[in-house]
Amino acid sequence: MTNKEAFEEAKKVIVGGVNSPVRAFGSVGGEPLFIKKGRGEFLYDIEGNKFVDFVLSWGPLIFGHCDKTISTAVSKAIKKGLSFGAPCNAETELAQLVLGEFPHLDKIRFVSSGTEATMSAIRLARGFSKKDGIVKFAGCYHGHSDSLLVKAGSGATTFGTSSSLGVPADLAKHTHIATYNDLSSVEECFKSGEIGCVIVEPIAGNMGLVPGTQIFLSGLRKLCDKHGAVLIFDEVMSGFRASKTGSYGLNGIKADLVTFGKVIGGGMPCAAYAGRAEIMDLVSPVGGVYQAGTLSGNPVAMAAGIACLTKIYQTPNLFEKLNKKATFITDTLKESAKEKGIALQTEVRGSMWGFFFNKKPVKNYEDALKSDTKMFAAFQQKMLKRGFYLAPSQFETCFVCKKHSQKSLEKMADAVREVFAEL
Ligand SMILES: *Cc1c(COP(=O)(O)O)cnc(C)c1O
Repeated sequence: MTNKEAFEEAKKVIVGGVNSPVRAFGSVGGEPLFIKKGRGEFLYDIEGNKFVDFVLSWGPLIFGHCDKTISTAVSKAIKKGLSFGAPCNAETELAQLVLGEFPHLDKIRFVSSGTEATMSAIRLARGFSKKDGIVKFAGCYHGHSDSLLVKAGSGATTFGTSSSLGVPADLAKHTHIATYNDLSSVEECFKSGEIGCVIVEPIAGNMGLVPGTQIFLSGLRKLCDKHGAVLIFDEVMSGFRASKTGSYGLNGIKADLVTFGKVIGGGMPCAAYAGRAEIMDLVSPVGGVYQAGTLSGNPVAMAAGIACLTKIYQTPNLFEKLNKKATFITDTLKESAKEKGIALQTEVRGSMWGFFFNKKPVKNYEDALKSDTKMFAAFQQKMLKRGFYLAPSQFETCFVCKKHSQKSLEKMADAVREVFAEL
């Protein structure tokens, strides 16, 4: 069966043939690959093609596919049962592993997806602040809960309009949209008097890679303190990716609540929100903010998370090494683009890397939207033909994993030079 045939079959029974929209390759054209297996740094499709994988399941696979330590931990856990619906020690162990790295986070609650983590954190922040209004930044993605599927309204208004059918306008109006890396736009939102929380990707990875500046993030901290609002750092992508302790490890700024996902599950469905005890103790059964999950803290997911984080802590200089690989890629991109006169911007944070076909540095979503998406699509498809699997959208982040070899990176560099010559 070819990828094309598999996609046609899937489309008959699964909406759009995929269970998450970006997988459909809609913004680059072509068909999605149907994956047979992953191994180390490689993905294999059902046609027998092999690709160097820079998507890595959108972040979780920091040690690559089929990491032995994680797979062994999962196999062991499976033998004891898939789910208990009752507490187990693995939950406490993973909680300790996460919280131990963050002096400002006292308690944690595990859930099964990043969407659940941010949705729950927002509810908690609203419960704590007793205010309905939230500030969200254009271009930041926090999963698909109603309050967060909101985009900037037209014109000067900062009130949000829904970016999805089915989100009540009465709910969307409480989501105030600000501009990333622009504190004055946040101050504007606070003038409404209803803002109880600010949620931000401190290192934005869902409009392409756009890090928040130190001034911006520390300014958010000050504004939230001044107005008694809860600051939520959504580190579902950047946590254990940008550095061992995500954004916090790079700039030391302490949010009131932090959400995690992706890497903390090591490839299994696991996410979490954590924060100061004073706020977290408002969650049920201790407090009045309700949140629950049948498979939350699932023993198999916990085992994967424990193995993944333990391996992260025990691997000497892991993030320095990953950062070197990522920087090798962005340096290659930059140099090759310069040679060929292609306008390109690049960014690296730890094991995260990104690039924009853009004349100017990208500081926010509006800048990102000025990128040449046609050129991106051509680049992505041509790299794919040469065996390099990059995220199928200009507005996504790529990753490196421990398994990426210098040999693969050098082959990729050759491919980049070839493709840039053709663009
Ligand atoms: C991926 C992501 C989410 C959503 O996580 P899911 O597990 O896909 O629901 C939320 N926030 C950020 C920053 C993400 O990158």
